[in-house]
Amino acid sequence: MKKAIYPGSFDPVTYGHLDIIARSARVFDELIVSVLDNKAKHPLFSVDERVNILKELTREYRNIRVESYTGLLVDSCLMEGAHVIIRGLRAVTDFEYELQMAQTNRKLAGSQVDTMFLTTDLRYAYLSSSTVKEVASFGGDITGFVPPIVAELTYQKYGISKSAQTRK
Ligand code: ADP
Repeated sequence: MKKAIYPGSFDPVTYGHLDIIARSARVFDELIVSVLDNKAKHPLFSVDERVNILKELTREYRNIRVESYTGLLVDSCLMEGAHVIIRGLRAVTDFEYELQMAQTNRKLAGSQVDTMFLTTDLRYAYLSSSTVKEVASFGGDITGFVPPIVAELTYQKYGISKSAQTRK
């Protein structure tokens, strides 16, 4: 059985992440979407909130599980019996960091874990969770970047009312 882990902060999950999730779920028998629990990052959404949002948005997939993890990603892969880490590549700017992470994980886990990259759908190449948060914090329209439920919850975090969003 081919099992993969797609790790990330997903703070919040965007259409770019969801595209990578949908495409990976077609390739692997089981996909574990794993939310990084990194206290140092001061996320907008708690780990539980992010896990619940992702569970809701992937409800229709029978081969997707949503979890959270702390510590080393490769340890979590080995514990789950997943031999592939999925990462998304947007632009060359992502490449250097992703290459470093992939090589580090390879060094840590040897041949037991490999990283595979999916290039982003061009529609979402510019999209990042940070941009979504920045636009939302100023009351800008994020409805083209994230699913409606995520937009609603993100605006709520910034104390922005529905009427303010529809004005923009
Ligand atoms: P991290 O903190 O691990 O970078 P992110 O939640 O920002 O977490 O991203 C998780 C993964 O999703 C990374 O591999 C990242 O490159 C990828 N990703 C982020 N945004 C997009 C997007 N718009 N299209 C495709 N992949 C993306």
